[in-house]
Amino acid sequence: MKNTLIPIIGLEVHIELATKTKLFCTCSADHFSKKPNTQVCPICMGLPGALPYTNYEAVISTIKFGLAMGSTINLFSKFDRKHYFYPDLPKSYQISQYDLPFCVGGNFAGKRIRRVHLEEDTGKLVHETIDGVKSSLIDFNRSSVPLMEMVTEPDFHDIESIISFLKDVQLIVRYLGISNADMEKGSMRLEANISLANSEQVIANKLPNYRVELKNINSFKFLEKAASVEIKRQTEALEKGEELVQETRGYNEVKQSTFSQRSKADAHDYRYFPEADLPPIELSELIIKNLQLTIPELPEQKRVRFEKEYELSKDFANILVSDLDRANYFEEALRQAQSKFGQGATLSARTIADLMINRKLDQEFPEPAGLVKKIIELTSVAYSSNEEVENAVKSVLIENEKAVSDYQTGNGNVIGFLIGMTQKKLQGKGNPQIVREKLLEGIQK
Ligand code: ADP
Ligand code: MG
Ligand code: ZN
Repeated sequence: MKNTLIPIIGLEVHIELATKTKLFCTCSADHFSKKPNTQVCPICMGLPGALPYTNYEAVISTIKFGLAMGSTINLFSKFDRKHYFYPDLPKSYQISQYDLPFCVGGNFAGKRIRRVHLEEDTGKLVHETIDGVKSSLIDFNRSSVPLMEMVTEPDFHDIESIISFLKDVQLIVRYLGISNADMEKGSMRLEANISLANSEQVIANKLPNYRVELKNINSFKFLEKAASVEIKRQTEALEKGEELVQETRGYNEVKQSTFSQRSKADAHDYRYFPEADLPPIELSELIIKNLQLTIPELPEQKRVRFEKEYELSKDFANILVSDLDRANYFEEALRQAQSKFGQGATLSARTIADLMINRKLDQEFPEPAGLVKKIIELTSVAYSSNEEVENAVKSVLIENEKAVSDYQTGNGNVIGFLIGMTQKKLQGKGNPQIVREKLLEGIQK
């Protein structure tokens, strides 16, 4: 019988933070498609003697994200130097965090989080042919832009759950407003560590003694493909009785295969030691509590609220919540519609959601007011006649004496209730303007 092999996958996610300035200097952190080497200074160029200082906006963004991941925030943390040589790293070390990152542990979407730390991004190599000579150029605009890294435990066993987890992470980052997390701009970068466990290892709850790190993946589609061909490659190798080695591999889209880049460095190869030019960071419980209070409603909470408060289907709620702008558009359109039609009108949240989702009217009308106007047009043809409205108003005023006297003694808000009651009688077909006029006339009589 064939040995069943189970994929064991852990993720590393890098998010470039959308702070105003870089992590250790005041150069702009907004580097995307800027003229090369126009946003640099001695600090982010790593010139000798330049002294870094910490951008606390980046620290706060990292902690907020950690809190959203359910991490514990270290009250004492520090930066460390991680040494390696590469042309895009002018100091020959990257300022990162080693043993005392800002956030440790956590649990998100059912997966255990190992840590969240902050480090500086590197410069960028640009390969060009200049006067017929193949050349490599370096752009340092990205050097020292704050880069947050989240590492998960190896809790994933299939590709589908990786993708859905990563999409949830991307959405949270956008809700927190700490990064656009756009993969095509490189603001969100993914690495997947993959190994295969045999049944003995699964039963003994042991991890395989190797792992392959898939690097430089810049879209969910690529990750899906790269991970699936890598799992296939490892399966075939193990079934042939081959040993797999710990290494870093890239993905070749044209060949649809992964290729070895280098054997994986161990932590000791990096000669980590504390960054001597930056003071450690000490936080109080109070600061963390206050940061917790600044965390907005997150996607999962919003989804649950949309289902409950607006009686939306799970599908509708999911679609709206997966785009914060759209979720806000929906709520604003509903608010405007209700103030026009009255609370009890048949124009329900579901109608608005349906017009947005199935008829894409939010694309046609970039402002919620446009959508509301359109709804009025769509429904106006079927308005009740004036006589019907007058009759409905008459009985509403008789049946709701208390509300009428409340209105007369100065509680203007009751009008909304009375409009709602009238619309109910008219099955929502009253022209809101006329219903309001007739009610006011009736009350003043
Ligand atoms: P480092 O990158 O500092 O060496 P680790 O090797 O412990 O740290 O883990 C890095 C990533 O690899 C984590 O996401 C972790 O979940 C994952 N990982 C660790 N062991 C395995 C394994 N045997 N198979 C797959 N992923 C693993
Ligand atoms: Mg790593
Ligand atoms: Zn700088």
